[in-house]
Amino acid sequence: MNIEAIEQAKQMWALENQKGTNDTPSEAELSRHLMNGMFPTCPSGGTYTINPNNVRTTCSVHTQAVTPTRGSIRAD
Ligand SMILES: [Zn+2]
Repeated sequence: MNIEAIEQAKQMWALENQKGTNDTPSEAELSRHLMNGMFPTCPSGGTYTINPNNVRTTCSVHTQAVTPTRGSIRAD
């Protein structure tokens, strides 16, 4: 549940520093809000992308990309 912990740290960071939804904290900035003061590492060797506050943190191994629905009719 590292991503959940990162998300909680992002919320605390945003509150504490009065950041908006489009701001992205660094690993160092989040570390102080995380257990052990350390930014977590993926157990499968993935890379975390922190993303802005309104976008959930992703893992290069565990986060599934959203695949577009094939055959759907698009108006645009
Ligand atoms: Zn992972």
